[in-house]
Amino acid sequence: MPFKTLGLHPSLVRATQDLGYTEPTPVQAGAIPPALTGRDVIATAQTGTGKTAGFLLPVLHRLIDQPRGAVRALVVSPTRELAEQIDDVCRGLAKHTRVQSALVVGGRPIGAQERALRAGADIVIATPGRLLDHIQRGTARLDKATTLVLDEADSMFDMGFLPDVRRIIARMPARSHTLFFSATMPPVIAKLAHELLRDPATVQI
Ligand code: AMP
Repeated sequence: MPFKTLGLHPSLVRATQDLGYTEPTPVQAGAIPPALTGRDVIATAQTGTGKTAGFLLPVLHRLIDQPRGAVRALVVSPTRELAEQIDDVCRGLAKHTRVQSALVVGGRPIGAQERALRAGADIVIATPGRLLDHIQRGTARLDKATTLVLDEADSMFDMGFLPDVRRIIARMPARSHTLFFSATMPPVIAKLAHELLRDPATVQI
């Protein structure tokens, strides 16, 4: 089954071709169709399954026709390295669109991140602590952000980030679409998912 049949915007299909993706991986085939319609998704998928494009492609598709000038989507990742990888994939997939991303992670100069946010990022890819710094400084605003992606929710919990994640979500009053990815689904993570998701499509790899 080629990417084209999933209903993605042609500029995104072209980017998957540029990246050498010929057909969707199982997590992509499972997550993209429901996410494209705006349905919440809960996916149990490890790194290496193609999960990053699995959440980025539907999010980018839905951003293409949104007005510019405010953060509309947020991806939260537990580590800087993972956030950097997500940002790389995002830039590759968005290259034939006008969608702009900003990477907001600790251990990197805050000024450059402020400039990227001010320049009108549509999608922010962040680690929790640095994003909260920006929210407190007033340099990141999430009041118009409708889409939330939590990546590696189980690692987020293991690293003690759930209170920060909850603080961030409290700053997203317009949240209406949530994609929840985790490598494992222990009870504490399933409970968080139940709290955050409405009638989710379940994808298990
Ligand atoms: P991830 O699980 O998101 O870390 O992705 C693992 C690797 O699979 C990355 O190097 C991606 O570039 C690659 N990848 C993602 N989707 C596809 C696809 N549909 N076809 C081939 N490679 C892919």
